Amino acid sequence: MPILADCHLHSNFSGDSEASMESMIKQAIAKGLKTICFTEHNDFNYPAPAPEQVPPRFRDNPSGIFELNGDSYLFDLIKFRERYMGQIEVLFGVELGLQKEIMRRNIKFVRDYDFDFVIGSIHIVHGKDPYSCPEYFDGRSDEEAYREYFETAIENLKSFSNFDSFGHLDYIIRYGRTKDENYSYAKYSDLIDQILRLIIDREKALEINTAGLASGLKDMNPCFDILKRYKELGGELVTVGSDAHSPERIAYGFDRAYEALKECGFKYYTVFCGRSPEQRKLL
Ligand SMILES: [Zn+2]
Ligand SMILES: [Zn+2]
Repeated sequence: MPILADCHLHSNFSGDSEASMESMIKQAIAKGLKTICFTEHNDFNYPAPAPEQVPPRFRDNPSGIFELNGDSYLFDLIKFRERYMGQIEVLFGVELGLQKEIMRRNIKFVRDYDFDFVIGSIHIVHGKDPYSCPEYFDGRSDEEAYREYFETAIENLKSFSNFDSFGHLDYIIRYGRTKDENYSYAKYSDLIDQILRLIIDREKALEINTAGLASGLKDMNPCFDILKRYKELGGELVTVGSDAHSPERIAYGFDRAYEALKECGFKYYTVFCGRSPEQRKLL
């Protein structure tokens, strides 16, 4: 497998995963990966999900389902990093949910831990999570809902920059009624170009997230045309992540990510260590 680092993984330190950290590490080694980065969720101000969507360990505090216990996460990560040293490099990351209202809390949270890598992701759009709250799409077309998502990304990118890679840029298409049926970069290029320019101007990376492929999308997030456009506009930093929440999804679709990167003319993919980008050759 030509991409040997999976830089977007969740374990049961995230409210939506039941996988132990060790099971994820063992599977990554079995797949031949040389580096993995756990990027557990941290979403402050998360709207409390319906009770059936809340795992028992969060029943007392459903709106804290995506608030990370950074201390115990780091404790376990160091333990396993040492246990598997020499077999795989295990990095300490976070997937930070961006919302304008929680900027100061996010800044403080990122400052409190020595993360290797911070993914900035938009999960909540004006108080609603399109994933767990289908009303986000009610009473309007998917196009309007998708546009609001991209506009929210622009607002956040203009006001917050303490992250390394921008997560799953067009992930909203996973949840619309029509999903990716009528979706294309061209249709939203007015907004997507603004997002890409903000990422490049702020010297951030763009994430290729392959999770959607496993759930039936035609393309990765972002789609190929967005990756191509990012390159055209001068983007050079691309992180690759499967967003696996269970061991069998680790590195899922990485051959596809490799082909897309090569076709767009990238020679490297990026791994962040200690918040610094390392360019690794696409063999
Ligand atoms: Zn995410
Ligand atoms: Zn994720």
